[in-house]
Amino acid sequence: MLIGDYEDIKTFEDLKAEIIDLGLCAGCGTCAAFCEAIEMDGDTPKLVGDCALVRGALKCGTCYNICPKRSNGDATIIEKFLSKDKVDELFGNYVGIYSVKATNTDIAERAQDGGAVSAIIHYLLSSGSVDCGIISKRDESWRASPLVITSADDVTKGSGTKYAVSPNVEALGDVIRDEKLRVAIVGTPCQVKGVRNLQSTLFEPIEKIEIVNIGLFCTENFRYDSFIEYMTPRLEEGGLKINDVTKTEITKGKFFFRSPKGDVSLKIAELEPIIPTNCRNCIDFSAELADISVGSVGSPDGWSTVITRNEKSDELVKRMIEEGLFEVQETNIKIIHMLCTNKRKRLEKGGEEVLTE
Ligand SMILES: Cc1cc2nc3c(=O)[nH]c(=O)nc-3n(C[C@H](O)[C@H](O)[C@H](O)COP(=O)(O)OP(=O)(O)OC[C@H]3O[C@@H](n4cnc5c(N)ncnc54)[C@H](O)[C@@H]3O)c2cc1C
Repeated sequence: MLIGDYEDIKTFEDLKAEIIDLGLCAGCGTCAAFCEAIEMDGDTPKLVGDCALVRGALKCGTCYNICPKRSNGDATIIEKFLSKDKVDELFGNYVGIYSVKATNTDIAERAQDGGAVSAIIHYLLSSGSVDCGIISKRDESWRASPLVITSADDVTKGSGTKYAVSPNVEALGDVIRDEKLRVAIVGTPCQVKGVRNLQSTLFEPIEKIEIVNIGLFCTENFRYDSFIEYMTPRLEEGGLKINDVTKTEITKGKFFFRSPKGDVSLKIAELEPIIPTNCRNCIDFSAELADISVGSVGSPDGWSTVITRNEKSDELVKRMIEEGLFEVQETNIKIIHMLCTNKRKRLEKGGEEVLTE
């Protein structure tokens, strides 16, 4: 590095001023994954120790450079990790697209949709292809947080969608430090990009690190505190407490809280006030940089849409179909296109509400 560059190195203070304080942080946990001085306080990164800058000695700049909300570099990521054979104008590079349902009944019964994510991680763990999986668990009040699993049997501990930020990438730091170097990680599109930024920088010299980067389709996610504050009175009107809720789901233009006592639903438009700024600024619906993207749209109820984005992940999904772990049928690509377009339009319109799932 030239001496003159030193002044240009950005630090956590810059990340805070340019991303966190402007509401652009996704809460993904990438900046906290490998820095002792940064910890996630719920879904917000906080400086808790001596940043190199604070010590007045060296500036490191890693947290700033790997932030998925700051960095660009998508073209380089695509070049390094994805197949270039087929490119869909709206959902990006891909090899195959499938509508699947897991045949493992335990996985299928607990899953959000067709159980594709859980079945893939189960298969990778039980075949010894990865050392661990990073999924997301929730507490009784639906606060979400990362969960590291090493046994395939534990995969259903993370089943189901939590509409709250779960900083899964932070846990990637823990597992790599623990020498679990072959990892399947699931996350929203911003988290997928955080993982790619790590793969392209800190992980690059370490050949033994192998990541299966599983992305979820996503229109938006919510900050836990504002989500709960906003939803509690609405749940109470419907006679429910958050602890009663067993599943949350967006379908047919509505957000549903499912519970054995009955359901409470809101129109999607009612979620408008709590959509975070960082989601309004995001146009990636289908987790375009993932190895495998999974969502519900494009498939019938109870099935998952799976997009494989390189040969290795396509072989994996085909193998699971051949081994009878997935039932398979045709996908409705039109509706995936619609959701991708809606997310892009929201940014063009300055962040207005769009129909999800
Ligand atoms: C915030 C959010 C918004 C979404 N929006 C859409 C959408 O608009 N359209 C659409 O088609 N699909 C959307 N999805 C994806 C969809 O809800 C399902 O997660 C997906 O179809 C996978 O279903 P499955 O049956 O394979 O899931 P499962 O087998 O139940 O596995 C789901 C996996 O996702 C993990 N997970 C759950 N919540 C989170 C979270 N907050 N952060 C990180 N990981 C998590 C779980 O731990 C689990 O490993 C969204 C998901 C999330 C988390």
